[in-house]
Amino acid sequence: MDCLFCKIVNKQIASKIVYEDDMILAFEDINPQAPLHVLVIPKKHISTSLDIKEEDFRLIGSLYAAANKIALENNIAERGFRLVMNCNKEAGQTVFHIHLHILGGRPMRWPPG
Ligand code: 5GP
Ligand code: ZN
Repeated sequence: MDCLFCKIVNKQIASKIVYEDDMILAFEDINPQAPLHVLVIPKKHISTSLDIKEEDFRLIGSLYAAANKIALENNIAERGFRLVMNCNKEAGQTVFHIHLHILGGRPMRWPPG
C-alpha cells in the first residue's frame, strides 16, 4: 500500500520518533504548527476516523494514552494542549492514515480555522 505513514512505521521513511510501542508510533510533524507538534499514529493502517471499527476501540484508547504520556513528558500537560484528528478533505486531512496531532507550547485559539 502506498501510504506515507505506513512507510514511516516501516522505517522506509525517516522521522524523529518520540514514542514507540508494539501498536503505536509518535513522531515530530515535519511542518510544526506549535512549539510541540507531534503526530501519534496506530501502526495498523486505518484511513480515516470513519474507518475505526469496534475491534480498534482498544487501539484508539492506546493512541490517547500515548498522547497523554508525551504531553506529560514535555511539560505541556498542566498548561494545556490540543489533540486534533482531521477527517476527510474539508477538515484538512492530507494523509489518509489516522493520526492524532498533539499541539502545545503556545496558547490555542478557538474556534480553529
Ligand atoms: P493532516 O493534514 O492529514 O491532518 O496532517 C498531516 C500532517 O502530516 C501534516 O501536519 C504534515 O505536516 C505532516 N507530514 C506530512 N508529510 C510528513 C512527513 O513526511 N514526515 C512527517 N514527520 N510529517 C509529515
Ligand atoms: Zn498507512
